[in-house]
Amino acid sequence: MSDAYDPQNIFAKILRGELPAFKVYEDDRALAFLDIMPRCPGHTLVIPKAPSRNILDIDPDDLAYVAKIAQKVARAGKAVFKADGVTVQQFSEPAGGQVVFHLHVHVIPRHEGEPMKPAASFKEDMAVLAQHAEMLKAALAS
Ligand code: AMP
Repeated sequence: MSDAYDPQNIFAKILRGELPAFKVYEDDRALAFLDIMPRCPGHTLVIPKAPSRNILDIDPDDLAYVAKIAQKVARAGKAVFKADGVTVQQFSEPAGGQVVFHLHVHVIPRHEGEPMKPAASFKEDMAVLAQHAEMLKAALAS
């Protein structure tokens, strides 16, 4: 299997506006949007705008920038969802659990004693995602 960047991956299409997303934050270097199969409410993905497949090929400055935005999203998610903590994950290559091959960092608000749903086990209602996106967007804009 090739480890070249594939510009037809889903997140590249979201970046080009070819697919919709529940965007919560955007600047010239990064985009954050809700995971449509959240493992907990508020599950957000942060991606660089520059093409990179995963942690193995990303420019270190882009990775640092994504980490900076992931921190903003983590703080906003904790406040908005009144969470007790936050889980941050990044998967690289199929053996590492990666399914979509544009680097992304998962930021997942967590509540004490509430386990995460299994990955890709539940597709959230669009109206709920829209509401959560508005709440996070407002928190990230302030
Ligand atoms: P992974 O590559 O394993 O780190 O995870 C890919 C993540 O992308 C999963 O959590 C999916 O639920 C999520 N996902 C897949 N398609 C979309 C989409 N169109 N919009 C938002 N999230 C998505």
